[in-house]
Parts: sequence; structure tokens; C-alpha cells
Amino acid sequence: MQGLIMDYPLTLTAILQRAEQLFGTRPIVTRLPSRELHRYTYADFVERAKRLAVALRALGVQPGERVATLLWNSYQHLEAYFGIPATGAVLHTLNLRLHPDDLTYIVNHADDRVLIVDATLLPLYEQFRARIHPERVIVVGSGAGDGLLDYEALLADADPTSFVYPALDERAAAAMCYTSGTTGRPKGVLYSHRALALHSLAVALADCLALSERDAVLPVVPMFHANAWGLPFAATMVGAKQVFPGPHLDPESLLDLFEREQVTMTAGVPTIWLGVVQALDRQPERWRLTPGMRMAVGGSAAPEGLIRALDRHNLRLIHAWGMTEMSPVGTVSHLAPDLLDAPPDTQYAYRALQGRPLPFIEIRARGDAGFVPWDGTSMGELEVRGPWVASAYYNAPEGDDKFTEDGWFRTGDVVTIDPRGYVKITDRTKDLIKSGGEWISSVDLENALMGHPAVAEAAVIAVAHPKWQERPLAVVVLKAGQQATAEELRAYLAERFARWWLPDAFEFVDAIPRTSTGKFLKSALRERFRDYRLPGSGPAEELLEPAPHPQEQG
Ligand code: AMP
Repeated sequence: MQGLIMDYPLTLTAILQRAEQLFGTRPIVTRLPSRELHRYTYADFVERAKRLAVALRALGVQPGERVATLLWNSYQHLEAYFGIPATGAVLHTLNLRLHPDDLTYIVNHADDRVLIVDATLLPLYEQFRARIHPERVIVVGSGAGDGLLDYEALLADADPTSFVYPALDERAAAAMCYTSGTTGRPKGVLYSHRALALHSLAVALADCLALSERDAVLPVVPMFHANAWGLPFAATMVGAKQVFPGPHLDPESLLDLFEREQVTMTAGVPTIWLGVVQALDRQPERWRLTPGMRMAVGGSAAPEGLIRALDRHNLRLIHAWGMTEMSPVGTVSHLAPDLLDAPPDTQYAYRALQGRPLPFIEIRARGDAGFVPWDGTSMGELEVRGPWVASAYYNAPEGDDKFTEDGWFRTGDVVTIDPRGYVKITDRTKDLIKSGGEWISSVDLENALMGHPAVAEAAVIAVAHPKWQERPLAVVVLKAGQQATAEELRAYLAERFARWWLPDAFEFVDAIPRTSTGKFLKSALRERFRDYRLPGSGPAEELLEPAPHPQEQG
């Protein structure tokens, strides 16, 4: 017997319409590239999102076609987050930290029809414009001309009253985001309206990020990386005040904005908060922050010391784990009721775990001999399934091996699961390095290094770094009778990779240990260089710079 309940579609347009009807006066604040603060209301935002939708239609964008953004966290990006899907088209967020070669591949693979680019990122766009073929490029901020359309002029010409909320299929694609492949090219994840709507409900739960209309939410996590953890969608759904930092991600700028806008909830990778803690430790009296401000931390493991340090400043770190392929939030670590009386050390240990799965996310871990018990010690690769987990990559059958025969997604994270269901990440099967929240492909660096005439073999591994969590170390075997210095190899790599990808150090060895099948035995290398001391400052500083500088992009 079927239930007698309406089959109401779960779409982003329903969220937009709700925001229009209920939250018109709620504020949205953006720190512009010029550092000035831009303020407007949800009513302004909805009207402009509609104008964008109407304008895109007038440009000929059809449902299902991709419209790409190369934008900071800003009100214009929020307009794109809703205006593009509101036409039935697909919002494709481009990662502005990527090398122009990768951006070229991604734009062409996604077949983006229109590109919306921030004026401050035009120098980056110039480096790949000749290799991509969108029909229109729209510039946010001054800088149009030369065949580029002006965002404001486009919106001014569009009539928002001609916008009609379309009847969308909840399973239709609404957004897409590429993620670094361990091997091969970046792969596209295609989110449906339904996935993003359900994900919004889940992250707003009290036992996730507890979002409400009373909140002021500031996503530091980029809107080009895994939908800024779904915050723009979820915050709009609940009518929270939204605050966007633009390109200004240094600790002082963020702390100023937290104080001025009385932010109650924020989110970002550990690197950001390590800098914020240092600034607060230096000047504890300088900023009056909302007591107990919630800070969602993920992307890399939140160190327990960071949780303790933020507690000392009366800021509440919430550790979460997720993936681009999971829209992205999968687990979150809150204390179960019986842990509320536990000693502080126990509580901190639990809060530093990746946490328990959100409703409708199923987890299991597969070891060499099948699924491992939830005993907190047996390790296996984490597999997941649920209504906001990718079922395949976009036009990339080579990524099929990430899915099990029975349709679960293989995360590439090695975990233990305890009897309560708390997940702890202990290792990674994927050969990637995560630095300041962004991926570096060890394999790409190795292949490039082995193209150098003096290099016989090269393996690149992650070493722990106090600020960036991980940085690449290149372990190199030179050909007999050949010479090459670390500087030469770095300069060689600099021609083809973004600066923040370049290894912080090079170690020259006689041989790289191998497995029985002849592959590099990275685990042995990681063990050998476990306590490796990297030089002080390195190329990763670029990850926090306001705008990628063309010369530094290689
Ligand atoms: P991305 O798709 O770029 O968001 O990266 C997802 C990957 O980042 C996961 O598969 C993990 O390897 C890593 N990751 C994300 N959150 C955490 C966390 N809280 N602790 C440890 N690793 C994490």
C-alpha cells in the first residue's frame, strides 16, 4: 500500500522561494576585494538571482547546460548559486587555486556554456581563455569590454518580474564540482536538486551545525570547494544572516568581520583556524566575538590542540568529515549524552574524531578480510552511501572503480569505527597530499620530475606541517653520473605547476623502496621521513593570498 503524501519535489527553487516569502529583510554582507563592506537584504538577493536567471535564459542557456563561476565567496556568488539552478541550468564552481592547465581541462570537460568571472581573477582567466570555448564570459566588477559582458549591466537589463519559478525535476542536476583524481584527470561530481535540498536539511540539524534564522553564518571554506560545505544553501533555507569574506582570508580580516557582524557560525579548514588562534593568543582583548561561536572544521583532521585552544577563547570547534562526492558532509563529531560527564581528556579525544554519520548516510569499513567490526580498532577503507553521495563521476567511466558492485562509494579514507559509530580516519589509500585544504597530486609531481633528464626515479609523499597539515616532500634518485640540485628541480616543476604545489624539500636517495609488484612503497617512505623537518616558510603561502598572481601561476 502506498502512502498518501504529496510527491513534492525537493529543489533549490523551493529554498529560493521560501527565502523570498519569509526572509526579505534578513541581511547579507560581503567584504569586497577593495575591502569595503557591501550590504543588502535577502529581498535584494532574490531579485538579483531572478534577474540572473532571466539574463541567462536570454543568452540562450538551456536547462541542463553548465554555467561556470570563477568567484570568491561573495553575494554575487550566492546569486549564481541560486540564479543558475533556477533556470534549470547547472552551477559549475571552478577552483581558482588550480593551475590554468587544469582549469582548461575542467571547463572543456564540463562543456561550460557561460563563465562568470570576478574582475580580480581576470589575470588567471587570461592564462587559459584561448584554450576554452564558452559562448559568453561575464565579468563581476569592472573589467568588461573586449568581448566580455558586464554582470551589472546584464542584471540591469533583465526583468525580474518575467521570472517564473520553473517546475523542476528534483533529480535534475543543479550543480557540479570537480575533484582531484588520484590518477588521471580531475573528475566531476554532479549534484541533484534533491541531494542539495536534503543535505541542507541535514546540516541544519541540531546535531550537525544547528543552523537557524538567528544565526549569522560566515563560510571561510571557498564556495568553489564542495559548495562551501553546503552552507550557502542551508543558510538561505533557514534565513540566517550571511557574511562573505571575499578574497580576504588572513586572520585579522576574518576576526574583524566576526566581531563587526557578530558571526555565530563559521566554517573552514584547520589551517585557517590555526592562524586565527595565533592572532587571538597575541591579542586576546582585541576582538569581541560572539561567545561560543561555532566553527565547523573539516577538509583535514582538526588537531585536538586546536579544539582546546579555541575552547580557551570560548569558541566551539565542531569537527566534521566530508568529501566533494558527498555534497560534502558525511560525519560530524558531537558528544553523545553519556559522554557529557566524561573527563575533559575523553571529551576532547571524541571531539577530535571525525564523528558519526548524518541521518541517511550509511557507513561501513572494508578490510583485507571483509567488513571490519565497529570496535574502534579494526581498520578498513570507509565506504558510504546515501541520498547526497555521488553515484558516478560525470562522463568519467575510469572513475567507476570508486564504486563497489553493490553501489557504495569508496572514500579512499582508512578508518576505525567505534561501537557508538564514531569514525576515526587513520590513513588514506589515495595518493594525494592535502595542503591547506586543497589537493596536490603526488603522481603528477612524480611524473613531471621523472621527465627531468637527470632524474631516474622520484616519489612524492606528504609530510606533516604545523600550518598546512601536509606538504609535499620529493624523494629523488638521480641517474648515474648526473647532477641536479633541489633548486633546479623546483624551477623545472615551477614551469608546469601552481607555486603552492611545489615540494617544500627534496631528498636525494640511492633507491626508492618498492612493493613486490614494483610500485613505490610509499608507506616505507612515509615511515622513514615521519619526523622530517621542512624549511620554515614555503610556497604554500600562496594558498592564502587574495588573488593568484599571474607570474606565480606558472
Ligand atoms: P574534498 O573532496 O576535497 O573535500 O576532500 C575530501 C577528503 O578530505 C576526505 O576523503 C579526507 O581524506 C579528507 N578530509 C575531509 N575532512 C576530513 C577530516 N575532518 N579529517 C581528516 N580528513 C578529512
